[in-house]
Amino acid sequence: MDYTLSHIAAVTGGALHGDDRRVAAVATDSRNSIAAPGETLFVALVGPNHDGHRYIEELYRRGVRSFLVGYVPDPPAAPMPDASFVTVPDTLDALQALAAYHRQQYNGTVAAITGSNGKTVVKEWIAQLWPEGAGRLFRSPRSYNSQLGVALSLLMIRGDEQLVVIEAGISRPGEMERLEAMIRPQIGILTNIGAAHGENFNSDEQKLDEKLKLFRNAESIIYRADIPLIAKHIGKRYGKCPERLHGWRTDLATGLAEHFGDYASRENAAHVVALYRLLGIAPKPLDGLQPVAMRLELREGILGSTVINDSYNSDLTSLGIALDYLDHNAGDRPKALILSDILQAGLKSDELYRQVAALVREHGIADFTGIGPGIASAAHHFVALLGSEHVHLHAATDDFLRHIDKERFAGRFILVKGSRAFGFERISRMLEKRTHTTTLEVNLGALAANLGHFRAMLRPGTRVMAMVKAHSYGTGSVEIAAMLQHEGVDYLAVAFADEGVALREAGIRLPIVVLNSDPGSFAVMADYDLEPEIYSFSSLKGYAAEIRSRGITEAPIHLKMDTGMHRLGFMPQELPELCVLLKDEHAVKVRSIFSHLAASEDPAEDDFTRGQIALFTRMSGRIVETLGDPSILRHICNSAGIARFPEAHFDMVRLGVGLYGIEDPALQAAATLRTQIVQIKTLDRGDTVGYNRRGVATGPMRTATIPIGYADGMDRGLGRGAGQVCIRGVLCPTFGNICMDTCMIDITAVPEAREGDEVVIFGERPTVREVAEVLGTISYEVLTSVSARIKRIYVRE
Ligand SMILES: *Cc1c(COP(=O)(O)O)cnc(C)c1O
Repeated sequence: MDYTLSHIAAVTGGALHGDDRRVAAVATDSRNSIAAPGETLFVALVGPNHDGHRYIEELYRRGVRSFLVGYVPDPPAAPMPDASFVTVPDTLDALQALAAYHRQQYNGTVAAITGSNGKTVVKEWIAQLWPEGAGRLFRSPRSYNSQLGVALSLLMIRGDEQLVVIEAGISRPGEMERLEAMIRPQIGILTNIGAAHGENFNSDEQKLDEKLKLFRNAESIIYRADIPLIAKHIGKRYGKCPERLHGWRTDLATGLAEHFGDYASRENAAHVVALYRLLGIAPKPLDGLQPVAMRLELREGILGSTVINDSYNSDLTSLGIALDYLDHNAGDRPKALILSDILQAGLKSDELYRQVAALVREHGIADFTGIGPGIASAAHHFVALLGSEHVHLHAATDDFLRHIDKERFAGRFILVKGSRAFGFERISRMLEKRTHTTTLEVNLGALAANLGHFRAMLRPGTRVMAMVKAHSYGTGSVEIAAMLQHEGVDYLAVAFADEGVALREAGIRLPIVVLNSDPGSFAVMADYDLEPEIYSFSSLKGYAAEIRSRGITEAPIHLKMDTGMHRLGFMPQELPELCVLLKDEHAVKVRSIFSHLAASEDPAEDDFTRGQIALFTRMSGRIVETLGDPSILRHICNSAGIARFPEAHFDMVRLGVGLYGIEDPALQAAATLRTQIVQIKTLDRGDTVGYNRRGVATGPMRTATIPIGYADGMDRGLGRGAGQVCIRGVLCPTFGNICMDTCMIDITAVPEAREGDEVVIFGERPTVREVAEVLGTISYEVLTSVSARIKRIYVRE
């Protein structure tokens, strides 16, 4: 931008006091460095904890001469003879008017993105795919999507861009009109609309309607045409000009399945592809897309809760992002928010917290804790929107910690979001489950990517049952199941009814199959809507009797065929009797028929595997025919089967170990077991280490003691140099016997190692598989042996 102050006064309806000057940049935050102070216009915004006018003198000393203000500071303590002031009634309004004017001078194309989530990803991906030679593209900086952020973004337009992409976020009615008046996009993209708040259906509609105002003057609107709510509202508003509507349907996203594992990424990418089609520009190949990082961590909390700690930023935008993240991960579990006063330039305190309260309500927060004088003074907004019984206010963090009622947070998904000054790390420390320093870190992003890897091998329409038995192979239960539910898998399978009950109690709604369904748990299964594997006549009769006693019919069951594993299942010779029984049994309804491959990963056994598949085809075909029900799903493939026997995918596949990425180097390892060095010792030749003195120093050496032992899953077979751990990138052998809770490592090769250094037991290096090889076992056993006392941490990268 390049304007004179008199020009700016004319555009904003302000009055110029002092010399006319040229300005080429705008600053609103005095804490930031200012590159060219002489050419910068400082806009004095007024917010709840903040008044930009207080920094004018300091900025004058730093060389700034031009100020957009609500009033001329009077009288200044030190004279500012060269300062020029444009005075306006409201500095944010004036800044927005200037931004709107600046945008009008730009003749290229402006695309604006709005929606409940995915805005930033879509924006970043448009930029990532912008081809060389297509001219310049400008996009608004990361989270500049608010009333202030959009204005600042627009003022960064140089004028020679081919395409400008602006993200627009709103938190209450009335805001979009202001944004639209500034942005005036020719192209609008609606990413999606949050449907998580079922009971506020009206407000979803209202929210959508408000967002759509952004497209009032747009020539083209990109949206998902196969979501009825969106299609209906777009039709109502813009249906009269069908040439403006560029709705896409699921098939566009399905076509992207090979590139993206998770549903949300496919949806985001489909918007990007639709935009490039509309522009008639060939984007760079999709393979080059990089994930847009989320920096939030999920940690296991006290009393069955989960804690998300976010203290990076505290403004409305980052609160919105964190709440979206909370929604994604919590599923149906009740949500709690602990929030400190937040800083947001350009809004008065009362208005700021009115918006915060609306945002909190929109995200269905069941329990709200506000800490700080700012929030406390706006109590009425929170009480009005959330109800007084859901609102807890404290003047300071200490006060909260003294009076905390931990029971209140049991089973909840808790977002802890505080400005640095409030020291919220003390709160997260109190809420997080406390154990020793050993953790199993589970990367949910890697799990999602692995899911995508396998989905890309499936014919469209093939369903996925995700195996979450044994705490998802040791990685955790609810967190993994919620992620899989979010990623749109069709079924979950657990080993025992108890595991299914835990998932139901945590709000998992997917159908859940119980593999080892013993008669003792039939009642519980019926209570919790769990679907049993039926593998014998007695289990069929017993379950049907339980269902009949409840006066129910057609309870779903899954029939297991024994095609050669000889573990559980009906044998081929039992089939005639089974068919007769099923035909007359109305208490239960066969939802699927399946079998399990005994050696799907072993090429030497492929003939046997093909025999199992052929036998399964015959057995399941016969039952489907007898029952005359083509909707019955058939499935036989586990992870290795999916990859190696594409002809045997049938209607569904059962994905287990592949999700966790531990057997196949092409997959991403989802779990890292790590600990820390707690003590380092320097030993001489002849010194011995550990029980029975099995570690004997043959010369001067250094050992590190780490707090993990066989009771944690560090198998004794890894002791005495058999196993290795990774310290500062170096693989170091164990030394002496592994103890119950600790073990010792030879770190002579890493002289720079220090106490507190991270130690990786398995993860990227060594891999689970390498550890398994030392022990002469399989990766499955190593991963599922990590004891329950080790804290699981969930991250999404
Ligand atoms: C565990 C299990 C699977 C998954 O096997 P992976 O090799 O881990 O993919 C599939 N089906 C049944 C019946 C299982 O018990």
